[in-house]
Amino acid sequence: MMVAALAMGATVVAMAQNDDPYQDERLELVDKIKAQFAELRQETGLTAPTEGVLEAMAQVPRHAFVPAAMAHQAYRNRPLSIGHAQTISQPLIVALMSALAEIDKSEKVLEVGTGSGYQAAVLGILAAEVYSVEIIEPLGLTAAERLSELGYDNVHTRIGDGHAGWPEHAPYDAIVVTAAPDHIPNALIEQLKTGGRLVIPVGDFDQELVVVEKLADGTTRKREVIPVRFVPLTR
Ligand code: SAH
Repeated sequence: MMVAALAMGATVVAMAQNDDPYQDERLELVDKIKAQFAELRQETGLTAPTEGVLEAMAQVPRHAFVPAAMAHQAYRNRPLSIGHAQTISQPLIVALMSALAEIDKSEKVLEVGTGSGYQAAVLGILAAEVYSVEIIEPLGLTAAERLSELGYDNVHTRIGDGHAGWPEHAPYDAIVVTAAPDHIPNALIEQLKTGGRLVIPVGDFDQELVVVEKLADGTTRKREVIPVRFVPLTR
């Protein structure tokens, strides 16, 4: 019995590797991010648990979220162009934002800026349900198709202006914004649960990654994490 079970396990692993030529590169990237997280803990006082995020990033095939001609670059720790003057964020930043959101598997998350759908897929592994809004229709539609093909059934998308959040499914345990407004949109604070976390880059040129927590008395607590560079949150 033992032998049969082991042999079956080996077959499954072999199949997964055949299916996914990028498995090794992806795991190397996750190792790199793990080391960078350790540095960030010292530099920024990052206290959020990161193990679940690293596991999620080890699963999501980033190469399936970039244009086919760029698949071979997907596991460099860099942002990449996805057309329409937009980019898929740098993997370290995706990991950091996901960690700062401190998502539990029972929770509901809003993402603003679906883009390629990659960050949404990572959030989909971490959360119960993900709602993601994209303003550029062709990007949002392509991402929706891709997420559905890859089986991320708990990730829901729509086309719209994320300044308004997605009120129909509010309130959210966490909100992750992947484009930078010049100030934090009120609707996003309103759609956050008590105890919820909003992770958002803020600023025109000099942007800071900010975490906003909504406290029991309805007030918010804000902290700046690191300087970042995101595309602007447009209207
Ligand atoms: N999370 C994405 C990163 C995409 S870059 C990924 O993993 O690939 C930011 C995205 O935000 C772009 O696709 C851009 O079109 C979108 N965006 C910009 N302003 C927006 C707005 N007001 N509402 C919703 N999406 C917006």
